[in-house]
Amino acid sequence: MAWDFETDPEYQAKLDWADAFVRDEVEPLDHAWPHLQFVPLDGGRRNAIDPLKDQVRQQKLWATHLGPDLGGQGYGQLQLALLNEILGRSSWAPIVFGCQAPDTGNAEIIAHYGTPEQKKQYLQPLLDGECFSSYSMTEPQAGADPTQFTTSAVRDGDHWIINGYKYFSSNAKTASFLIVMVVTNPDVSAYKGMSMFLVPTNTPGVIIERNVGLFGEPMDGGTHALIHYDNVRVPDSALLGGEGQAFAVAQTRLGGGRIHHAMRTIGMAQKAVDMMCERVLSRETAGSRLADKQFIQGFIADSYAQLTQFRLFVLNTAWKIDKYNDYKKVRKDIATAKVIMPTVLHDIAWRAMQVHGALGVTNEMPFLTMVHGAAVMGLADGPTEVHKVTVAKQVLRDYKATDDLWPTEWIPRKEAAARAKYAEYLELEVGNL
Ligand SMILES: Cc1cc2nc3c(=O)[nH]c(=O)nc-3n(C[C@H](O)[C@H](O)[C@H](O)COP(=O)(O)OP(=O)(O)OC[C@H]3O[C@@H](n4cnc5c(N)ncnc54)[C@H](O)[C@@H]3O)c2cc1C
Repeated sequence: MAWDFETDPEYQAKLDWADAFVRDEVEPLDHAWPHLQFVPLDGGRRNAIDPLKDQVRQQKLWATHLGPDLGGQGYGQLQLALLNEILGRSSWAPIVFGCQAPDTGNAEIIAHYGTPEQKKQYLQPLLDGECFSSYSMTEPQAGADPTQFTTSAVRDGDHWIINGYKYFSSNAKTASFLIVMVVTNPDVSAYKGMSMFLVPTNTPGVIIERNVGLFGEPMDGGTHALIHYDNVRVPDSALLGGEGQAFAVAQTRLGGGRIHHAMRTIGMAQKAVDMMCERVLSRETAGSRLADKQFIQGFIADSYAQLTQFRLFVLNTAWKIDKYNDYKKVRKDIATAKVIMPTVLHDIAWRAMQVHGALGVTNEMPFLTMVHGAAVMGLADGPTEVHKVTVAKQVLRDYKATDDLWPTEWIPRKEAAARAKYAEYLELEVGNL
């Protein structure tokens, strides 16, 4: 019977290597070059980081989300999950291991839907880790509901002219190209009337109006672009997938992206647990260590329980993706992981922050960044509420209504049926009394 929670020793050795490598070589990059992960390498950063990427390649851990035909290892999602939870400790780690969002999802859809020319122009440099990409879907007036998108492309001979605004296109300012979702046929349902285009960022008419910053970042100094597509002219060959296929393309991308975020979140939450445990064992107050106070023991137990449940759920979802090789069959589980993720990270980071007292809320510790990260996880790739709706719909598919006035499990009817079924024996019992 195959029901195994052990990692095979050969891969475990790679994970052990990755764990030490991330702690010793990669986490320092977070402090040496904070917030520069998505800026193409040059000068000192290239000299420092290229050799690290080489070591990852030598270990056969580069771009493990991809199959061997695309330069990856074809390890599958479960092995990726075990690696990603190590990478989740550091913002630079996914870059050094060639598996950073949003480029992973973007590479996935180009690999899946791209023409040979598109793969050569966009996919190869992405896989080599030599360029970045941006996914341009959300609009200022609509995010969770893509049927309200208005950015459009109108055919002009063998070209298309794109007009409209896109919002929160992450990393657009350093990306080489954008994948843009636009309306190409307003006369049919949005699900059939939208298409994806590959647009180089230096195309005339691509205007970044603002680089929106997240909390704590300088005004207009962030990485989430408000883009004006102002008469952007692209050839027919810029279509990614067929005309009207944007929703199918988007689903291919978002399924993987969401579960990869969940995998990395395990690593971030584990880091918070590690910090919390160290602190409560080290700090004394009111006659004993924090670790000896029941409130604090509750923090530790709740954090361990939440993280273990989440981790097992994510690993099981990754296993199902490998088993079915079809994101649609695992939609309920991916959406559930997306729903759980912000709460797990928020709760654990918050407790870890609390046990650090005043120090916890300073910019000398990473807890508020984690709490903020949890809020982001509840929005990026779709808000929690929308994913809950998906989960509920998928769960309800396995059930049907009853025509009866009383529920199927109504006890009086069950009791009567049971009495009828075992009447002979029940009578005997009564007779013996
Ligand atoms: C850090 C970050 C990075 C991002 N990166 C990208 C990117 O690279 N590319 C991109 O295109 N987008 C990106 N986004 C945008 C993200 O996909 C949207 O924020 C998200 O889809 C929600 O859209 P919205 O912000 O317009 O909120 P809205 O759609 O206005 O929703 C606001 C709130 O309304 C509620 N709500 C919405 N719909 C429902 C519903 N059906 N039922 C119940 N409640 C509902 C939820 O509480 C939701 O949070 C990013 C967002 C963040 C925070």
